[in-house]
Amino acid sequence: MFEKVELIYIIVSAIIPILYLIRFATYKTKKKKQYGRAFIIAFLIFFILIFLGAAFKLVYENVGNKNVKDETTTTKTVETTESTTTTTVTKTTKVTTKASSYNYEKILAPTGGDIIGKSSKGYDIKVVDGLYYVDGLLIANKTYDLPDNYNPGSLNVTVKAAADKMFAAAKSEKGFNMWAQSGFRSYDTQKNLYNKYKNRDGQAEADKYSARPGYSEHQTGLAFDVCATNKPCITNGFDNTPEANWLSENAYKYGFILRYVKGKENETGYMHESWHFRYVGTELAEKLYNNGNWITLESYLGITSEYGGNKA
Ligand SMILES: [Zn+2]
Repeated sequence: MFEKVELIYIIVSAIIPILYLIRFATYKTKKKKQYGRAFIIAFLIFFILIFLGAAFKLVYENVGNKNVKDETTTTKTVETTESTTTTTVTKTTKVTTKASSYNYEKILAPTGGDIIGKSSKGYDIKVVDGLYYVDGLLIANKTYDLPDNYNPGSLNVTVKAAADKMFAAAKSEKGFNMWAQSGFRSYDTQKNLYNKYKNRDGQAEADKYSARPGYSEHQTGLAFDVCATNKPCITNGFDNTPEANWLSENAYKYGFILRYVKGKENETGYMHESWHFRYVGTELAEKLYNNGNWITLESYLGITSEYGGNKA
């Protein structure tokens, strides 16, 4: 299928030679008009325009600034919201960018709020509008929940831009087709999802792989689940695929961390998920990547992830 912009380009490419033919037919000349040659010229104009368009698209996509296909997939699958909400998010991000000391890295840290204590590693634990931040990072795990009505509406714009960049790099480096299958999830969406799993597998099992409503990192708009073409999606079958391995080795370059690390279920509170990534900025992501031996966010910050756990 063609994108809207591509379709407009094709139509314009067709209109230009048609206009040329009309001009040719109506042009007054004493010479005998050579319609055959005019048609060939018109066709060549159309062909050249389409060729240039295709070449431009190819170069543009490979540059990696904006993978049109990936972006569309993301927009389609991730629960998006009305443009008004998106505008608000953009504005908030811009303000935060100015306020933070090292812009892009700590774009998510708010100013103000109350410090309620320190983590076991000595980081400030702060509450702003019912949201918990440890060392300026918004935390959603089994200890730290989010207000029911906290609803950014979609993936954070910075996170989405970084994800698009990462997926474009995976495409150009390895030819992988990956996208954020599940990004932002509202409290109610998570409630339905968790209850479905609870009814199917029981609470103890469901708690291993699904967050209770209000405890999901997906509700922050900073995390997403990745899927790849022709690979098992959001299941253990994705583990150790070339795509999963690439993500584990490269996501940190784009500011993402493998959130639920294998063998560290007691730290994160969740089973290993090779597809779930969370944005923390490139500086912290590189530290947690730890040359391939991922450190969990909980261990790094010195916080727990258990229902009813001590928040400060
Ligand atoms: Zn997830």
